[in-house]
Amino acid sequence: MKIIMLGAPGAGKGTQAKMIAKEYGVPHVSTGDIFRANIKNGTELGMEAKKYMDQGLLVPDELTVRILLDRVAQEDCKRGYVLDGFPRTIPQAEVLEQALTELGDQIDYAIDVDVPDENIIKRMSGRRACLTCGATYHIEHIPPRQEGICDTCGSPLVLRDDDKPETVKNRLDVYHKQTQPLIDFYAKKGVLRTVDGTKPMEEVFGAIRAILA
Ligand code: AMP
Repeated sequence: MKIIMLGAPGAGKGTQAKMIAKEYGVPHVSTGDIFRANIKNGTELGMEAKKYMDQGLLVPDELTVRILLDRVAQEDCKRGYVLDGFPRTIPQAEVLEQALTELGDQIDYAIDVDVPDENIIKRMSGRRACLTCGATYHIEHIPPRQEGICDTCGSPLVLRDDDKPETVKNRLDVYHKQTQPLIDFYAKKGVLRTVDGTKPMEEVFGAIRAILA
């Protein structure tokens, strides 16, 4: 099973990707997570990616494609995977398609988690993160027990730079210009499925489960 998750930043595709991975026993492959792990470990790749990520811009295709193809060539991806945050541009999608075609393989579904921009901005400006232990909260949906303090480690919670309204607007612009064309790309290939991402998490997952059944 090879699945691509599509959707704007903050649409909840990461949460759904993790739920799919757990239920169907395939790895969750997130290019954003791979970049963040590299930043944390201070690698050269991490330093390069950070320059773009901090501004809400996309990391160049060449770099991104290389790390993704390396990742999906690993043993645990043999039975399939859920891609979260890749592809984000048409050239990335074309490279992936070519790599799969060479293996006589293809993507089964591209699932678009659809959420209007207004909802995204509201959701992201309510997010709070603990920079010490990595826990995340939402002032309305997942509030900490004590306002502004992490339940897990007691550190102060912050609004991350990439969740600030200006950066969110940038990321949405980038999404509309560079990533949204993928919806058409996969629709033409007959593998696009759309779910309503404004619904509660479990309901969205129910819709995805029905698609994959
Ligand atoms: P994410 O966690 O998927 O929202 O990714 C966080 C950031 O990592 C994005 O805003 C981009 O700067 C970068 N990134 C992740 N995946 C890609 C990709 N496929 N192409 C280019 N940049 C990416």
